[in-house]
Amino acid sequence: MKKPTLTEACQKFPLTCDGAMGTQLIERGMKIGECGMCWNAEHPEDIVAVHQAYRDAGCRLITTNSFGGTRSMLGRHGLGGKVAAWNRLAARLAAKAAGPEGWVIGDVGPFGDFLEPMGDTTVEELEEIFREQIAALVDGGADAILVETMSDPGELSAGIRAAIAATDLPVIGTYTFQKSAGEFRTMMGTSVADAIQAAFDAGASIAGANCGTDLSLDDYLELGKQIVAAAKGRPTILQPNAGAPKMRDGEIFYDATPEDMADLACKLRTIGISIVGGCCGTTPQHLAAMAEASRLIE
Ligand SMILES: [Zn+2]
Repeated sequence: MKKPTLTEACQKFPLTCDGAMGTQLIERGMKIGECGMCWNAEHPEDIVAVHQAYRDAGCRLITTNSFGGTRSMLGRHGLGGKVAAWNRLAARLAAKAAGPEGWVIGDVGPFGDFLEPMGDTTVEELEEIFREQIAALVDGGADAILVETMSDPGELSAGIRAAIAATDLPVIGTYTFQKSAGEFRTMMGTSVADAIQAAFDAGASIAGANCGTDLSLDDYLELGKQIVAAAKGRPTILQPNAGAPKMRDGEIFYDATPEDMADLACKLRTIGISIVGGCCGTTPQHLAAMAEASRLIE
């Protein structure tokens, strides 16, 4: 039987996406500020092991290690020429762990600058930057494209349009929100309703949020409700951090336990979020508890 597309599947049963990659690589020796994407080429066995840990935890969506994989971001490390090869490789490594029952989610992060008029990049230039990365992710075996951690609906929409130009695979768009004066807004000041609407208007199949600035677990539940309301019946995704970040000895840490995150995952399912995953501070242990909790309410 042919595997359903991600969009079809997430409307039939709850799906769990994976959690943080960066912290897992730091545990395996990556230095803060080091080029995370270089690890695909230099430490492929570590990348597959992290993907596999999430797959074993019950995550059916395995996200490629390609957050900084645009020409503009790799160019900061003098590696702009690696876009095609390294994004293809990132997708192949994720596919090794995802297996036939999983979906490889080709990950696209912010391009690292502002669009005109705040920055120098035109929308057309940005679409080409994203298209180049996305074409390589598709070539490497991605089953869907995720344009994530966005603050500007203009940038997210450029990513969605670039994905649609490169492939007919489902496209997911997620923003990062912060809470100011009791309201969720992106760093650029966009409301949840406007941001989610912009993602679907650009052609996203699934829209929602990942990460977040200083959001508590209760905040994520409230954010989830607003996303479901804004999506008007279309599929949604939420990938919360393991609670709000805290400082200890000059280092950031996240202290939500796997049980806390399982409780949140249950609540997010109940309010109608289609795909639940994790962002900063989440580990395979968190995701295992979240996937298990989701299965129980299926
Ligand atoms: Zn995050």
